[in-house]
Amino acid sequence: MTDSDPNSCGVWSLSVDELKELPLEKVKALLGRATLEDLAAVPVSERILLLPHCLRRSDRCQARHDRELGLLCEGCDETCAINVLRTAALKLGYSGVCVAPGGSLAARFLKDRQPQGVVAIACDKEIGLGLEAVGEMLTNGDLSTAPVSVFVRLSRDGCVDTEVDQAAALQAIGA
Ligand code: SF4
Repeated sequence: MTDSDPNSCGVWSLSVDELKELPLEKVKALLGRATLEDLAAVPVSERILLLPHCLRRSDRCQARHDRELGLLCEGCDETCAINVLRTAALKLGYSGVCVAPGGSLAARFLKDRQPQGVVAIACDKEIGLGLEAVGEMLTNGDLSTAPVSVFVRLSRDGCVDTEVDQAAALQAIGA
């Protein structure tokens, strides 16, 4: 097998031209295989963190919404997952954090930042949609390389006051 064999290596090591030759389902499957070890090879300055806005504390959240950046956390609750994870990523030197209400804003953020690594906290449905969106962005030229993408599933979903295992998310962010 060669380095460009999609079955023998990470999708992020394939060129966009090679990815365009693959069916979207194959690209999605390859994108979803990234491990924390793969992410560890990406400098933190080349990574972004994507958070779902449903993690905020709906009864007290003071954040404003920005069209480009999503929710602008005001840090009103030191136990809020958005505050904890966003602060950790920025302290480590991540190039950006987007707290998105939906996939289209997250996709725009990806296109703007062109990251080499992504940590995304999401529910199963959004993970599937996210993989599909990244696959499409690769084949239509919106992304110049496939980012190493690590997903941490919500431990409680439902669109409002969701929850994530903060220790697992911090481990992924710090990989
Ligand atoms: S810490 Fe940030 S995201 Fe969480 S409830 Fe407060 S303002 Fe909203």
